[in-house]
Order: sequence, then C-alpha cells, then structure tokens
Amino acid sequence: MATLTFEQARQCVLGRLSAAKFQPNPEVVSLSEASGRVLAEPIASDRDYPALPRSVRDGFAVRSADLPGDLFVIGEVRAGEAFAGEVQPGQAVEIMTGAPVPRGADAVVMVEHCTVAGDHVQVPRTLAHGENVSARGSQARDEEVLLEPGARLGFAEVALLATVGRSSVSVYARPQVAILATGDEIVEVNETPLDYQIRNSNVESLAVQVRRAGGCPTILPIARDLYEPTRELAEHGLRFDLLLLSGGVSAGKYDLVERALADLGAEFFFDRVLIMPGQPLVFGKARGKFFFGLPGNPASTMVTFELFARAAVEILGGEKEPRFALLWSRLSQDFRQKTGLTRFLPANLNADGSRISPLPWQGSGDVPSLARANAFLVTEPDRESWAAGDWIRVLLR
Ligand code: AMP
Ligand code: MG
Repeated sequence: MATLTFEQARQCVLGRLSAAKFQPNPEVVSLSEASGRVLAEPIASDRDYPALPRSVRDGFAVRSADLPGDLFVIGEVRAGEAFAGEVQPGQAVEIMTGAPVPRGADAVVMVEHCTVAGDHVQVPRTLAHGENVSARGSQARDEEVLLEPGARLGFAEVALLATVGRSSVSVYARPQVAILATGDEIVEVNETPLDYQIRNSNVESLAVQVRRAGGCPTILPIARDLYEPTRELAEHGLRFDLLLLSGGVSAGKYDLVERALADLGAEFFFDRVLIMPGQPLVFGKARGKFFFGLPGNPASTMVTFELFARAAVEILGGEKEPRFALLWSRLSQDFRQKTGLTRFLPANLNADGSRISPLPWQGSGDVPSLARANAFLVTEPDRESWAAGDWIRVLLR
C-alpha cells in the first residue's frame, strides 16, 4: 500500500474527488440563508454597474478641457437624483459622492481643490478626462456573468447577489457525511469513563469540522473493535456521500477498519502519509463512496481532517476551488525537530499575526493543549532547526 508525502496525498485526494465529478443536487434558498453555501447557478448582472457615470468624490462636475479656470455653477446634483440639464463650456455642477455625473461633464474636481465664490468656482489645476468618475459599466456589464457555479458564498458574494437583485438563489445540497468512531475504550460523552476509558470527543470535533466545511454530519453508533460491528457500521456509513472513520487504522491487532473496508470491496489510494500527527491515514473508495480512515488520536483526527477530508467535503458540496491557505509568521523562539515528516504542531499566533509560539504538548492525545492553541505551525520535512525570528508556515484552526 502507498505511503505518500503530504503534498502527494493532498494531490491524490483533490485529484480523486475532482475526477469523480460528483453532481450535488441544487436547492433554492433565500438570500438570508445563502451564507456559506455553494452556488449552483451562474449569477449574471441585471444591468451595467454603475448604470450611469458616477462621481466618486464630493466636488464639482466639470469639462476637463475647461481647466484650469473659473467656472459658473449652474446647479447641484445629490446621490439618488439625476441632473436634468447639460454642462456647457465654462460651467460646473456641484456634485456629491455617488451622484450621476451630468451630461456634458467628464470629470469631477474634489471640493478640497477649488475655491467657491458665490455662484462661481475657481479650479487652479487640470484634470484628466474621467478623473474621479466611475464610468458606466466599469464594474460590470449588463448580462455579464459575475459568479460561476461552485463559488462559496461569503459576505461579499451575498452583497453581490443583493446588488443584482437576487433575493433567492440556487445552491448545492450539503453533502451528507457519516462519522464513525471505533474503539473498545470509547464511551459516550455523558458517561463516566473508567480510568482506562476515554470519552468520544472525535465525533464532536469532526462534526464541527464537517459543518464548517459545508457538510451535514451524522454521528453513527460507536463501532467496538470487533470485525462484524465495524463492517456493518462501515457498510451503513457508505450510504452517505462520505464516510469518516476515527481510529482503528494503525497496525495493532484490533485495528480492523482496513480489513472491514477491504471486505466491502474498497479500493485504497493510500494508507500512510509522512505527516505528524496522523501517519496512518487511509483514503479510499467503496460502493462508489469515498472514505477516510482517520487515526484515532484526537490531534491526528483533527489535523488529518483539515489537511485532507475538508477538501473532500468541500468538493462533494460542489465547491470548485477548495482553498488550503497556509500563512507565514515568525517564530517567537528557537525551534528544533527531527526531519522526515511534515509536522503540524499546536501553537499560538499572537493578535496581529506577527509571531507564532509553539505550545507545550504531550503528543497527539493532548486535547487540552489543542484547545489552548489557535493555530498549527507547519514544519517542512527536510529542515531541522529554526532560530527565533525565522519565518515559518502557519495553519489557522
Ligand atoms: P487508534 O487510532 O484506534 O489506535 O486510537 C488511538 C488513540 O486515540 C486511542 O488510544 C484513544 O486514546 C484515542 N481515541 C480513539 N478514538 C477516539 C475517540 N473517538 N475520541 C477520543 N479519543 C479517541
Ligand atoms: Mg482503536
């Protein structure tokens, strides 16, 4: 089975998901429900924007050929109205930001650059044709496609929908994602664990991550480390658009996930990635559905979801270009690591993003440390040491 580097594994996931050409069903939602959804139709402009040449300044609408000069002010035009007349040579119209530039005028001189005396305005400078004017259609042309299907709708996209008069919009159905925790040691959140047991936190972090990626999570019952229940629950999970399993993918005697999936006819694309946390990580397809077998340690589950499964949920949700944005910041202290793996370590990014500090942690099971962190610092596999002040990549969480 394949062991991949971080980049290879990510390419593999993106490639497989895109090649599957999953077509989510469209559904119509109102503008107030559109946030975070993925567009299922092209959005075209309903007219030119702006529909008329518009002033971008408070000042005077003028004929640039008249300048410099002393101009006769024939009236004013405010935002929300149109000037009826036409500016003749030697004339100007007082104009407010957002108001349409009167016919005859081709530029706007800022009020700060003129001297007003009665019904005259003195303009001591020249202006280029079109200066301080937003030309008709300069932002968008009538019928021009402004958003393509596959765009995730954030606040600016929603503003655009409102601008072009769309009070409802067609978006893709959220992908249905099954979450299946495995393990004999796992108990439910409202149970009191014995010392050798642990509460089921992974399904909760995964549900949050799935929702954040635009998916709709369903948490399945815990699969005990027995072949039959693991296989049955995995089979059930493969009825969803995507199956996420937590735990049971290491080399231990009771790590049954791969065997159960293989017996369900799975094709495996990789089962190890050179990352930390999360080395044993299974990605494949069975019964026409993709699945990820995520390692059970909480940090591994969280990190491998963000690195790989998140993009899968986004693509299954119809998103064209899932983003994976690593930032850069400077280390607050010297830092060393062993080479060979791309590491994602809990860290704190300061308020203005200029410094990143690794946090002490006790390995992949250290949920308290993860909850204290607001980011992961990302190390390249071939570099051993960094000095305080060195640039390093950061994954926000
Ligand atoms: P595994 O990948 O199955 O070997 O699990 C590794 C470790 O992750 C286990 O020993 C648990 O401590 C922890 N773990 C596994 N599943 C969960 C879960 N659902 N919630 C919280 N911790 C888990
Ligand atoms: Mg286990």
